[in-house]
Amino acid sequence: MKTKRVILLGATGSIGTSTLDVISSFPDRFRIVGLSAHTNTDQLLQIARKHPEAKTALSGISKADGAEEIDIFGKNAAVELIDSVQADIVVNGIMGSGGLAPSASAISAGMDLALANKETIVMAGDLLLPEARNKGVNVLPVDSEHAAVFQLLKNRPHSEISDIILTASGGAFRTTPLEQLDNVSVQEALNHPTWKMGVKITIDSASMANKGLEVIEAERFFDMNTDKVSVLIHPQSYVHSLVRTCDGILYAQISAPDMKNPIINALSFPETLVSNFAPLDLTGKSLDFYEPDFRRYPMLKLAFQASRKSASYPTAYNAANEAAVDAFIHNRISYLQIPEIVETVLQQDWSEAPIDLQGVFDVDSRVRSAAEKLLAV
Ligand code: MG
Repeated sequence: MKTKRVILLGATGSIGTSTLDVISSFPDRFRIVGLSAHTNTDQLLQIARKHPEAKTALSGISKADGAEEIDIFGKNAAVELIDSVQADIVVNGIMGSGGLAPSASAISAGMDLALANKETIVMAGDLLLPEARNKGVNVLPVDSEHAAVFQLLKNRPHSEISDIILTASGGAFRTTPLEQLDNVSVQEALNHPTWKMGVKITIDSASMANKGLEVIEAERFFDMNTDKVSVLIHPQSYVHSLVRTCDGILYAQISAPDMKNPIINALSFPETLVSNFAPLDLTGKSLDFYEPDFRRYPMLKLAFQASRKSASYPTAYNAANEAAVDAFIHNRISYLQIPEIVETVLQQDWSEAPIDLQGVFDVDSRVRSAAEKLLAV
């Protein structure tokens, strides 16, 4: 394999950090040629010092306020970075709907996409995945569950797949008595049992909105009917997902809960590299599975509904959740008001499917206005 040139978006976040770790283990295989972050100038500069040939971009800071050493500033910095650098693969570790435009740019520039940004697929999978296929661009999931399913589906015809089972940790409130959920604090929601991640995604893990987005992501990524995607709570987080073939047999992907595994798989695709990560020893470990309770996780139920209704409902689900979680983090609403807001927004009409990305962004901003109206009450 020749050395792959990598653009890393969201370099200072948790996916970014794991990607840098992976790349430092395989210096002759990967070369960082572009780095983006949102506002964390100091950390970005520190990373850039180790990768002197990389162009740097900051999306949350304007040129007037930025450090001199940074190359590109402003809202479209990640897109401009992709447009101005030659690369083989883009790792998109940007959190939230802001990751969509850079994903679209990577595909349109013909670069492979290692995708940790699930919003790209939730909001615009129907538009971008066919374009990627036409262009011969590989879109490689870096969400651990989808990376697992991707591996399990390798060399298997679609017609042999009966269904997909995504596993979930159950988040911070898996065992909290239901009647106490209304009083939980932001701090308690951030107490994730197995994965250490950013604030928004950790709250989404507690509510299982994250799994909800992943249900929609799986349906679109793997071209499965929503009824063929289900979720099991697996608190140990060793089984990252399962696939059932048409003969009824289940296949599981099992590894340590470490994002470096899906990242290295995506970066090295179609090869499998010899890794130096500590192998998982299953001796003495137990693997438990439970069905999620929709009373505890109403956000999961709403995701299945949005996924079935399709059109712009998945975008509405995502944007309403982003707005509600932001309000929860800023103590404007209680934890249980997150699903209330999302449910109310989803009761509006989002049945028109956008025909282009601008249409998706329009829906996204209409949803946010609708959510903001509810939040202002
Ligand atoms: Mg995941």
